[in-house]
Amino acid sequence: MLIADTIHKTYRKHRVAVPVLTGASLAVHPGEFVSVVGASGSGKSTFLHLLGCLDVPDAGIVSLDGQRIDHLTGRDRDRLRNTTFGYVFQFYHLLPELSALDNVLMPAYIAEGVLSWWGKRAAWRKRAMGLLERVGLGQRWRHKPREMSGGEMQRAAIARSLLMNPRFLLADEPTGNLDSETGDTIVKLLRTLNRDEKVTVVMVTHNLELARGTDRVVRMQGGKTTEEARPAGPKFLSLVG
Ligand code: ADP
Ligand code: MG
Repeated sequence: MLIADTIHKTYRKHRVAVPVLTGASLAVHPGEFVSVVGASGSGKSTFLHLLGCLDVPDAGIVSLDGQRIDHLTGRDRDRLRNTTFGYVFQFYHLLPELSALDNVLMPAYIAEGVLSWWGKRAAWRKRAMGLLERVGLGQRWRHKPREMSGGEMQRAAIARSLLMNPRFLLADEPTGNLDSETGDTIVKLLRTLNRDEKVTVVMVTHNLELARGTDRVVRMQGGKTTEEARPAGPKFLSLVG
């Protein structure tokens, strides 16, 4: 289980202090698809970065299966970032000069040294092609980001996030730059991958409508998280009925 417990974070620059998180907590259970909603500037990205070891909290603890991970340094931190977590961002962060396939392979280039890469490249390519097919881009593997639509670029970014078979997929406004129809298909894709690939998903969004389609909605407000009351949807009814 991935737990963030009473996280505090203040950004400081010169004499200006911006308190962002003032006791935000979240327990992410294996296999679930949880969303964090809140207004722009409420600290959602900050919180997701802390959950995924991309930043360090001022106070509070982040733990994974009972082990603290918030203050890891060096190789331990790199390994965790590269293999335990997969990240998806609003603006895709694909490298413009690389094909979809090479973008998806990037985490493996980084994880393997040059020599080790050479020996395993066929297996990595096979895995990357499989993931591109999984997200509906099997025919587009040669295409560069500029030859793809926003939705397609996000699909490629999602395939890349899964290359190292992470336990957690952390998605920061993955639909923020897409029209609502395309955004819906991206969330559906995340749901399918959550079920079929057994990857636990934490999605940050300011779109409550999209969040309602996930297992659990957590609201970020005033630097703290609160759980939304679960609507009596079909899932709930089938549990009691
Ligand atoms: P959200 O993702 O909910 O829109 P963020 O976590 O990005 O919110 O930002 C929360 C607040 O922290 C905002 O007021 C933002 O301006 C501020 N902030 C974010 N990153 C930094 C930074 N590196 N330095 C200073 N202030 C920051
Ligand atoms: Mg944000």
